[in-house]
Amino acid sequence: MVDMIRKKLKDWNGRYLSTAGKMVLIQSAAQAIPSYLMSCFSFPANTCNQINSLIRNFWWGQRKEERRIHWKAWSFMCKSKKEGCLGFRDLQCFNEAMLAKQCWRLLTNESSLLSKVLKQRTENIRALKDNNLNSPSSSGNEAGLWKWLWYLKIPNKVKVFLWKCVICILPTKGALRRRGVGTNAICARCGLAEETNEHAVRDCGWMEFMWAMSPLHIYLPPLQHRGTLGDWVAQFMKQGDSDGHDLFAMILWSAWAAINKLIFEKQSITHQQCIKLATARLHEHAQVGVMGRTPSTTRIYPQKWIPPEESTVKINSDASIRDGEGTGIGIAIRDHRGQIISTLSKMIPIEYDIAVAEAIACREGLVLAKDWGLRNVIIESDNINLVNRLQKRTEDLTYLGNIIADVIHIFPYFDMVNSSFVKRSGNILAHHLASFSFFFSWFRTKDRGYSGSLG
Ligand SMILES: [Zn+2]
Repeated sequence: MVDMIRKKLKDWNGRYLSTAGKMVLIQSAAQAIPSYLMSCFSFPANTCNQINSLIRNFWWGQRKEERRIHWKAWSFMCKSKKEGCLGFRDLQCFNEAMLAKQCWRLLTNESSLLSKVLKQRTENIRALKDNNLNSPSSSGNEAGLWKWLWYLKIPNKVKVFLWKCVICILPTKGALRRRGVGTNAICARCGLAEETNEHAVRDCGWMEFMWAMSPLHIYLPPLQHRGTLGDWVAQFMKQGDSDGHDLFAMILWSAWAAINKLIFEKQSITHQQCIKLATARLHEHAQVGVMGRTPSTTRIYPQKWIPPEESTVKINSDASIRDGEGTGIGIAIRDHRGQIISTLSKMIPIEYDIAVAEAIACREGLVLAKDWGLRNVIIESDNINLVNRLQKRTEDLTYLGNIIADVIHIFPYFDMVNSSFVKRSGNILAHHLASFSFFFSWFRTKDRGYSGSLG
């Protein structure tokens, strides 16, 4: 691979390239060559240094034995553009970052391709997860509990919440007071006992009533026979069907969301609302799964822009590529009345492959929505493959796969994320914003009130 890069750089060296041209070549080509392998294997430091040095010499215009002045240390050149530098990659750091990313994904996402492959061959992931997540008193029974938990058909953020419940690390008022945050540890609902993990989601009178009236009809035994939350969840896991288990997790989650609403927003939520929230979210989650399985040919796609439902926003994204200039990204976020919440028009001086560019645009759109604190979003693109991959949540080790994985990993920041495909005629505003970026390289708005007629 070192030879491949050496050859490539040698080919380019003969040409008279501007510094901007060199920068683009280094970022888009030379440093991208090793990215696939670097996401799978740890490279020897020596190889990284060799490649770094080849790129460094190319940048400073050095050929063979002749020596040129290197004006800045390479570590400086590799700092991000935000820090005023060129944002070249230090390959060893990049290698470590890519491997760390894979490792993180193995731990957090068992449905990824890599995770599945490894799981079939070895039981490594289980061991990895158990070592990291189990409490010290880990037993065979608990291993079963983790397995059960990570396979529930519920949103990932609810899985993480349930996991926190089971190992008793919810930030309850009691736990916060023990850490010196706040002085009042009394339950905000009943005012009768300390808000512990058990009290917050099970033992409070308000919760006892909720469990009894829920579709699961759980009648709790006397307090002294209930055990820890972990025991209780483990016990529940052994009875009933998987649909009941999913709902159980969702109710726990919505009850916790309701407590936080009461404490932080002084809004009280009724038992019915709480259960309705849990069932609605579960239904939405199931719908997303079904959408992903529907063959795309049987669906009729809209020709024009259609506003989202109330309290949901739609993020339209598009990308356009110009030879010798780079990639333009266009984002438009609009509400149910078609009014613009925010737009973004941004030029990146790298000519990406169109599929990668569209995925990057989608990622930018989600980050923008997250920055504005939007909760329910639909991401819309005119790239059918991208939309399909987001719906099926397929990740792989290619550069595109990595960007898509980035997009998927922003999902948990929202209460609801759906992705939809629209024909180009329905994505005109985002398309124009992407082209616009070549004139104004970075432009972002937050205007409320403008209602345009563009699709
Ligand atoms: Zn209470």
